[in-house]
Amino acid sequence: MSTDRAPASIYDREVRAVDGPEQVTPSCEICGAERSRAVLQVEGIDSPIVCCAGCGLGRYRPMLADEEIQSFYPEDYYGEPGTKFRPLLERAVRAVAARHIAFLCGGLPRDAAILDVGCGRGVLLSPLADRGYRVFGVEANERAVQGADPRAQIRIATRLSEAGFEPESFDLIVIWHVLEHMVDPFDAMSACARMLKTGGRLIVAVPNYGSWQARWSGKDWFHLDPPRHLYHFPCSALEKLCEKHGLTVASSHHFSLRQNPFGWIQSALNRFGRRPVGELYTRLHQNPGRPVPLGQRLSAWATLAVLAPFAIALSVVAAWARSGATVHVVAVKR
Ligand SMILES: [Zn+2]
Repeated sequence: MSTDRAPASIYDREVRAVDGPEQVTPSCEICGAERSRAVLQVEGIDSPIVCCAGCGLGRYRPMLADEEIQSFYPEDYYGEPGTKFRPLLERAVRAVAARHIAFLCGGLPRDAAILDVGCGRGVLLSPLADRGYRVFGVEANERAVQGADPRAQIRIATRLSEAGFEPESFDLIVIWHVLEHMVDPFDAMSACARMLKTGGRLIVAVPNYGSWQARWSGKDWFHLDPPRHLYHFPCSALEKLCEKHGLTVASSHHFSLRQNPFGWIQSALNRFGRRPVGELYTRLHQNPGRPVPLGQRLSAWATLAVLAPFAIALSVVAAWARSGATVHVVAVKR
């Protein structure tokens, strides 16, 4: 790992657009193509992000070592036990998460078993447990589960196939903005296909690397989340990956009030030179080690309030055109 300068925070990595020549690479796990080209270079990371010539999947190539990836998640990444955001935002995040529940568990049997992959503090699992479901979680990092709901049976594993769950044991598996952080998302998808009961559902949410927002903002795209996102999935590539593992795509959803409008705002601020990159997010984010002055916090909320109507309108149009900045795909095991 080469570090020219230590970034001031984990949200402060410059990304450079590069225009690499098309090169022969090992065959893509999604589409089988053997050609890709370097498109982005993240500050402090040796491997470029390359884009598959077949399906458009973005990824570090070569993939980073586990120790380097671990260094992207410092102590304060997960916030205080049970909280990640400033209290007001945390309440909103939990309220939105609770609203998801009705969508997630629609049509499930009463005693359904649900697995949340990358469950963190159990924001998703608590309201599911309230409804009487049996809830399970997997998390790569022990620190991330501190303060999690004790009703959730959580296992710690870096690769999903190593978590030790039995085949055909779940009615629903949720991978909510986690697949792109995984060192081996292909292992995860094959493990999901194995662990789901026949007719069981997988719901996967990712940033959409093929979206208008991603293409318009390029290296400044908020949802690139450098350096932590190891893969960048176009929605079509994710759908193809599901099908490849025996999961029939039932629907793909392109609107997220929680993710997409904010992505437009922060990407635009990044693109038009407001530095440091990701500044707005940082100012809204709970970080006990680096308190944000009141004036900066107020200006962050004011910026959000002024730009939100435009960003929401753009997100609605993008969703209508099936080009949402983040997407979630529902797939059923055949
Ligand atoms: Zn591909």
